[in-house]
Amino acid sequence: EVTKVAIVGRPNVGKSSLFNRMVGRRVAVVEERAKVTRDLKVGETRWRGRVFEFMDTGGWLGKGDALDLKVSKMAERAVREADVVLFMVDVRTGVTDEDLDVAKMLHRRPGSTVLVANKVDHERYDAQIYEFLQLGFGDPVAISAMHGRNTGDLLDALGELT
Ligand code: GDP
Ligand code: MG
Repeated sequence: EVTKVAIVGRPNVGKSSLFNRMVGRRVAVVEERAKVTRDLKVGETRWRGRVFEFMDTGGWLGKGDALDLKVSKMAERAVREADVVLFMVDVRTGVTDEDLDVAKMLHRRPGSTVLVANKVDHERYDAQIYEFLQLGFGDPVAISAMHGRNTGDLLDALGELT
């Protein structure tokens, strides 16, 4: 039984960094689902007897040029295929208009969403994650994709949903 997890968020929040940390060299498949745009990267990881299939998507934007829209469509497709959506935001910037657009898109979807505050490299940033409560997805899981902080807690949170 594989749990499919789509990593979604605006550009630069750290989606690919998390994907690489979770999947590392175990990128089993690299699927090319769009000719012109970036590929959708898919890779598996095992955690406490479960298998998670992560999908790294391009940055989702509610508006933009033709390429942005193609990347966004690809992300929406990953969202439709996913059992769980991992909605990533950046504690260093706080909530942006683009995050609000992503939130709106994800609220239209019925399945479960885990809100992840990335770039929480140090506990001094921990208190800032509550700003993201306004996105309407409950308590964020604070992680640092770059340093691997709390990524085990994140996998536990994903496991509890499925
Ligand atoms: P994506 O566009 O969402 O896929 O974001 P990337 O994974 O490409 O990361 C965007 C930038 O944020 C890069 O410069 C990363 O090195 C940086 N970054 C990613 N994760 C972290 C983190 O946990 N802490 C810090 N300080 N920077 C990070
Ligand atoms: Mg990326």
